[in-house]
Amino acid sequence: MTNNTLVKKLIDDGYLKSQSVIEAFSHIDRADFVLPEDKENAYADMPLSIGHGQTISQPLTVAFMLELLTPKKGDRVLDVGAGSGWQTALLAHICGVDSSEKSNNAPFVAAIERIPELAKMAEQNISKYGFMENCSVMVVNGDGARGFPEMAPFDCIICAASAPEIMTAWKEQLKIGGRIVAPLENSIVLLEKTGADSFERKEFFGFSFVPLVSEMV
Ligand code: SAH
Repeated sequence: MTNNTLVKKLIDDGYLKSQSVIEAFSHIDRADFVLPEDKENAYADMPLSIGHGQTISQPLTVAFMLELLTPKKGDRVLDVGAGSGWQTALLAHICGVDSSEKSNNAPFVAAIERIPELAKMAEQNISKYGFMENCSVMVVNGDGARGFPEMAPFDCIICAASAPEIMTAWKEQLKIGGRIVAPLENSIVLLEKTGADSFERKEFFGFSFVPLVSEMV
């Protein structure tokens, strides 16, 4: 199996649809984000252990969530639960522009991870694509349930760990017109911010996630 086999399967199964997400999945090789002993399982459509009781997400779930999020070039994104850094790198590929086009040094994707060893691992993995070096990505060790006010407001907020509710901080730190895609127990919720305090909500059932660990939930 190759990364292309995985991409083709996700397209054939209807999970990958848009050009920019397909290109990101093709360019960012999942094998660069799994543990060395799992290299040969990297292209199987399943979550894999990354240590510390956490997993790199299942490819179909990441594809489904990114298609709901609809990130665009130049968007500012908050990625809660960086884990291996795979989804962060996919987002940086979709949203990043050439450094020559950038007007300032602010990163496009802020990724927050609560486990320090995983935050470091994410940074190392993301570095394989130059996204740390060209300042497209910032990895922060901390509690993503608080969002990341230092870089708000965001066009997109995505979370890889399941909470009992969508965090208020995320709603506040989202631009009007922006989107949150996050797991809520065993479903995935899409919130679109339609006004200062109004949201349109859709829910998709039948997924499973590791829990969001925070004093705030
Ligand atoms: N997208 C990642 C998913 C990792 S699993 C990948 O594919 O590799 C979810 C991650 O969320 C775990 O690494 C876990 O440690 C992290 N997490 C859980 N609660 C968190 C919190 N409150 N703040 C930041 N990260 C959190």
